[in-house]
Amino acid sequence: QREYLSLVKQSSDSLLALINDILDFSKIEAGHLAFENIPFSLREVIGGTVRALAPKCGKQVALDWWIAPSVADGLIGDPMRLRQVLTNLVSNALKFTARGSVKVSVTVAERTPDEQVLRFAVRDTGIGIPQDKQSLIFEAFSQADTSTTRKFGGTGLGLAICTRLVKGMGGSIGIDSEPGAGSTFHFTARFRSETGTGIRPDMLEGTAVLVIEPDASARVRLETELTQWHVVPRLCSSLDEG
Ligand code: ADP
Repeated sequence: QREYLSLVKQSSDSLLALINDILDFSKIEAGHLAFENIPFSLREVIGGTVRALAPKCGKQVALDWWIAPSVADGLIGDPMRLRQVLTNLVSNALKFTARGSVKVSVTVAERTPDEQVLRFAVRDTGIGIPQDKQSLIFEAFSQADTSTTRKFGGTGLGLAICTRLVKGMGGSIGIDSEPGAGSTFHFTARFRSETGTGIRPDMLEGTAVLVIEPDASARVRLETELTQWHVVPRLCSSLDEG
């Protein structure tokens, strides 16, 4: 019974994803896509997206994210649409990566006093995409390999939707990939900075933070980032030690 139920659940989830993709795509094609302009915290969007996808991450894949300290956290834009693009790219990365890592990073591409253009990258160590298929996959209903639908499912609409959403956020999307070595999907997006919201370093100054992280390289990265935030980290590798 459990097996049947989980099949029913899987099938309905795929069907829901498919319907949502088609609805979104037709809305975009009809020119009815509107973008919100509301204040949000970038760290909450990135952290929340990655946490929500963690259950899909295989045991042999490390899922991690990093935001350059120079990126202002308080932004004005459409957090739902940003989350949608990231969810799509990270889900793809997890789907096509059996071992290694999936990393999300954010850096500043351009900055004026009240605007920032951010560069997002989702890097995986998965199967990669041949050069001649790289532009094709951004088109609607296209997949890199005809066996993809059978092996991994999907509609081939995800990246076409991302391309249009990113354009709506004033940016562009691209890919660097090598078969066997992995892929990096990157995009830019323009946001107004909102000084009143978001996390500022001075809010955290002197706070003691306990970090329990088994992965040595993630520990070093966290230490660097936390120190930049002026908190006082104590690092250890296991729960017992913690
Ligand atoms: P879907 O995932 O529904 O097939 P997408 O538009 O999101 O549709 O992706 C299109 C195709 O691009 C995928 O079917 C796959 O062939 C290829 N692809 C996307 N992301 C990756 C990735 N991270 N690694 C390898 N191939 C990818």
